[in-house]
Amino acid sequence: MNVNDQESHFEMSKRASLNISHGIRMNQYKMCNAKGCMLSRHRVSGYCRVHERGRRLYGHALGYHFKSKEFNEERQLVTEFIGSNIEHKGIASALAFLRQWLERSTSGDKLLPAYEDFHRLNSKCIKPIDILIEAATVWLYSERHRERLPDDLRLTYAISLAVLHLAPRDYRSTWSQGRETVSPQRLSAAARLAVGEHIRTNLGLLISNIVRTMQKQQSEQHEFRQSLSAPFSTTK
Ligand SMILES: [Zn+2]
Repeated sequence: MNVNDQESHFEMSKRASLNISHGIRMNQYKMCNAKGCMLSRHRVSGYCRVHERGRRLYGHALGYHFKSKEFNEERQLVTEFIGSNIEHKGIASALAFLRQWLERSTSGDKLLPAYEDFHRLNSKCIKPIDILIEAATVWLYSERHRERLPDDLRLTYAISLAVLHLAPRDYRSTWSQGRETVSPQRLSAAARLAVGEHIRTNLGLLISNIVRTMQKQQSEQHEFRQSLSAPFSTTK
């Protein structure tokens, strides 16, 4: 690279950086895109700081974290269903797929999504069946509570987070102004999306089949109970 090339490269970088700063400054005069939010936008995002965080961490500006106990009812139903259908071919294939994901992650296969997190799950004795139950649990929950998980992307993130939280995260310490803070290692934005996508792409057919069958069974049971209390004719 000659001197002129270096100068032009430097000029281009400088111009690009000025354009970004200008873009950020102008963006701050615009309002957040989230419904009802009057705050100004954060950096180059279409949202304010709070709603941008929601988009990045939960797949939607209005997304949020679900506590594990929120899924308790669905988890119990899914556990019973999978337990009584453990011989099903699709369930066996899914368990083999998840076992391979856990084992290859432990061997350090970087091509797999979130291989470090799956290594963590494997080292903390999380089994393929735990992952399948958790993914189907969140899916069933989303069908029963549409208002809380109303779109595909939020469901993808919620599946990811439920699976990645099956085992505690490792702790790390950071130092700031001479004080040590110990906190759980953050889940990367990439892992939050990739795990849910990988599960849905590979096991989506099976999980939606499980959820559909469970809902059909429940509706049949409901109709059966309704029929038992149907009124008798009182006129002869
Ligand atoms: Zn906002």
